[in-house]
Amino acid sequence: MKLEIERLLVRLTYPFRIARGVQTELETFIFSLDADGVTGIGEACPPPYYGESIESVEAAVKALSDRLHGSPQELKDRIATGELRKELSSHASVRAALDMALWDILGKIDEKPVYELLELDPTKTPATSFSIGIDSPEVVDRKVDEAADYHLLKMKMGVPGDMVLLDRVLARTGKTIRVDANEGWDVETAIEMSRVLSEKGIEFIEQPIHHDNEEDLRTLKRLSPLPIILDESIIDPEDVGRCSDQGHGINIKLMKCGGITPALALVEEARKRNLKVMLGCMLETSVAITAAAHISPLVDYADLDGNLLLTGDPFVGVGVQNSKLVLPAEPGLGVTRA
Ligand code: MG
Repeated sequence: MKLEIERLLVRLTYPFRIARGVQTELETFIFSLDADGVTGIGEACPPPYYGESIESVEAAVKALSDRLHGSPQELKDRIATGELRKELSSHASVRAALDMALWDILGKIDEKPVYELLELDPTKTPATSFSIGIDSPEVVDRKVDEAADYHLLKMKMGVPGDMVLLDRVLARTGKTIRVDANEGWDVETAIEMSRVLSEKGIEFIEQPIHHDNEEDLRTLKRLSPLPIILDESIIDPEDVGRCSDQGHGINIKLMKCGGITPALALVEEARKRNLKVMLGCMLETSVAITAAAHISPLVDYADLDGNLLLTGDPFVGVGVQNSKLVLPAEPGLGVTRA
């Protein structure tokens, strides 16, 4: 198989600030994988938090050049669980890009959208939340107004003054709000916040405490009146068992786990343990967001808004109508150039 990669720079509508930093543009790679004349598209958006970078993606792709052989199904298995899983263990975004490109190819060969290959009902997609990054009160007001079409908001918290911003948003809109602290609180703050946020009608809290503080997360799970969704704690399917007493649910992202195939395994592991499942994303174009959306009928919560925060997304794929994800019916991922 022949792989071509294209490096893209896409601007964000607003700088996106969370508890541990700010991002003003998205640097990402589009993978085009050709299997006997059928081209699949994928995206590798390397998350620095998980140790990936532009350079690490380029190095991994270089080392792969003569390894992409066999049928699309065989190659997909080698990347998800075979020897390429090991070799690319610290390159989840590269695995994700290849995996979604291979699903795209398999769908195009069978002339079916990916959700149909997986026997999922496209009418069962959840609503997606729209994320409001940390910003000045005036900018937060503007973002909330601009998100008028979305019924669900996700507020980034975990920095001093975050409650003032949340109260401002609550006063401005009657929408359902979920909160993501991105590991910004200690256990005492998290317990107190879970009570306060519960009284304010917040839906759930994502990763309030650093993922290394497992005992603190266990304590919080016991005491929190709100569901705790683990994000930074959960990367691979193997993490779910170890973390199942640390939260009420898990947030799956293709760039953390390595694509659609491991994401399906994560859903299965979570369901075995009666955990809620959320499907999230990094800042990504519509390529990776659409790939994730194809499995969204399986999950309880979706936060697939990375493409909605961009100005000039170069791709078109999944849509949003009344907050609900609308899957493309074309074969494969159904992604095209804008
Ligand atoms: Mg999160």
